[in-house]
Amino acid sequence: MSTKNATVEYGLLVKSAKQLVQIVNGGQKSLTSSGQGQGYIEKLGNDSEVRQWLGCNKVEKVIDASNKVVMPGLVDGHTHAVWAGDRVHEFAMKLAGATYLDVHKAGGGIHFTVRHVAEASEDQLFNDLRIYLLKMLQAGTTLVEVKTGYGLKWESELKMLRVIERAIRDESIAIDISVTYCAAHAVPIGMTAEEATVNIIEEQIPELQRLRLAGEIHVDNIDVFCEVGVFDVNQTIRILKAGIEIGLKMGASLNSTSMSHLEEISDEGIEAMSQSNTVAVLLPTTAYILRLQPPPARKMIKAGVAVALGSDFNPNAHCFAMPIVMHLACIQLKLTMQESLVAATLNAAASLSRSDVSGSLEEGKYGDILVLDAPRWEHLIFQLGSHHHVIEYVIKRGRVVHQSSRLS
Ligand SMILES: [Zn+2]
Repeated sequence: MSTKNATVEYGLLVKSAKQLVQIVNGGQKSLTSSGQGQGYIEKLGNDSEVRQWLGCNKVEKVIDASNKVVMPGLVDGHTHAVWAGDRVHEFAMKLAGATYLDVHKAGGGIHFTVRHVAEASEDQLFNDLRIYLLKMLQAGTTLVEVKTGYGLKWESELKMLRVIERAIRDESIAIDISVTYCAAHAVPIGMTAEEATVNIIEEQIPELQRLRLAGEIHVDNIDVFCEVGVFDVNQTIRILKAGIEIGLKMGASLNSTSMSHLEEISDEGIEAMSQSNTVAVLLPTTAYILRLQPPPARKMIKAGVAVALGSDFNPNAHCFAMPIVMHLACIQLKLTMQESLVAATLNAAASLSRSDVSGSLEEGKYGDILVLDAPRWEHLIFQLGSHHHVIEYVIKRGRVVHQSSRLS
């Protein structure tokens, strides 16, 4: 063919890594991804294998990872990243001994956020979300789940969905977003749980589907806050079924893709999860900040449940740094560092049905890569609060999107 002698220019070569952490079996030591295509990993191997494979083809950018670690970008399986209304005052109240009820009586809690989101402009919500997402990227997260659920009523839920859509389409925000519709996060003031259930099923979901089909918004998953005093099991199942009928993945209940906020799961619940393909998304920062009993992660792992991690970033638990979440998972949930790593990469990607392209370093998957300025990957977890220094490069789909400033 006439292209016989043509050379290909690849986007990025990361070479000579001290450690390559793939989250799969293998012994590869360097890899390259194509910046010309969609940012997929083209080749994994040791330096000599990759050099031979490259031949006389060119590479636009080379990162020398000598004495450094190459590992997959992190995946945050659960956030509420669109919000308005700072709740730092509630943190101060709780530290001074206020109970959940005291905070509620003082006008705090989720309805405080719902009110502020209703009053906020789309631009204001977007500008804040953009900054949070860029900060997440700098902390190593390359795929994040973002929920609605501070709107509750359609007008405000739609505003949140439009804000998330703007972030998906904005080329200055390289992070991948999995969108979860969560109008059933709380019962709106002035409605009963049953009225809210009917409103979601008969009014909101059909409108959401119309906008999805028109290509105006993306929604991947549906979630419900199933708890006494919020939505009961029957209402939860009806809402989830309505979501599944339009092709959304479930974020709760049985036979779902993922379940989170499992602080109070029973032994029977663990058994049911182990029988299904459900991934348990655990949120160690929530248990820590709210001083809740942490979920029984060891029991779940022993029972064969796949465990993932999420930051649960929200106006009441202000942490989006997955390295800190991974550290807390080790200390509070008693995960090993390996379990914490898999939970914050491949398993979190699986909880979002994205493990075909994200969560591990494999040929054909996205080139979502962290290069650590450390001799071993465990430093990302071990050096609590120092992830900005440990993570030297964040690479999204084969493109460097963040490089830390180095101390000398
Ligand atoms: Zn949450």
